[in-house]
Amino acid sequence: MTAGRDLLRVEALEAVYGDGVRALSRVDLTVREGEIVALAGSNGAGKTTLLRAVSHLLPASGGRIVAGRVSYAGRDVTRTRTDALVRGGLVGVLEGRHCFRSLSVEENLVAGGLGRGSGRSDLRADLQRIYALFPRLAQKRGLPAGLVSGGEQQMTAIGRALMGRPRLLVLDEPSMGLAPKVTDEIYAILVGLNRAEGLTLLVAEQNVALALRHAHRCVVLETGRSVLEGPARALRARDDIRRLYLGQGPEPRAADGALAAAGC
Ligand code: ATP
Repeated sequence: MTAGRDLLRVEALEAVYGDGVRALSRVDLTVREGEIVALAGSNGAGKTTLLRAVSHLLPASGGRIVAGRVSYAGRDVTRTRTDALVRGGLVGVLEGRHCFRSLSVEENLVAGGLGRGSGRSDLRADLQRIYALFPRLAQKRGLPAGLVSGGEQQMTAIGRALMGRPRLLVLDEPSMGLAPKVTDEIYAILVGLNRAEGLTLLVAEQNVALALRHAHRCVVLETGRSVLEGPARALRARDDIRRLYLGQGPEPRAADGALAAAGC
């Protein structure tokens, strides 16, 4: 992976909800073109708030930025309408695996293309691409999204976002509530898109082990502050990280590199 220019920049960001519940305190984060950056941290750490802030969706949740700055592709996010951000390639899958439950899987996917203003032939080509990526969705295309499995709903939500041809895809806990096998299937597709097309990803994950396994870089939040940041490979090798976040003992020195080869 060769990371390019800064695509997303978060500087000394502070955010509150309502009358002043502080959710983020001076958080910095940079996502470079072509990177997979994981945002890890436990319940209430501020991951969702940060993803809302970078997508200019905080006001819709009763929150606001009180200090700092967020820029995407050089544009100040707080001064850019969300539809303009989407057309500029900043596309999110936030608020769980939200699908229009009564619409079919295919109608959900098409909705993602319409948001970007795609024409008919683009929509057809993009749909075929999504079905090639997620063959399960091709099989379920006519079913109401509310009736397919949790994993397929997550795939539908991601597929809908991909129909918007993102440059930066922002995902909030794609593994939530899913079996490890389905989570692996979804991450394999996302990592494949990153490798093949250079799709840039910012992914919030409560599961630090999962975040460290798939991301190039990882930022860990605790109670609204970033407490740790670095290349995933280096963090995976640190004994304190292994003990604190991965529930593992020190890395056996003789097996340096074997762990990474085993995908841990
Ligand atoms: P989780 O994994 O549980 O979603 P998180 O890391 O995404 O956690 P946030 O949802 O960003 O954390 O929450 C950060 C803080 O902001 C928490 O104290 C939470 O209670 C608060 N918070 C989040 N959303 C709102 C809201 N809409 N209104 C008021 N407070 C909120």
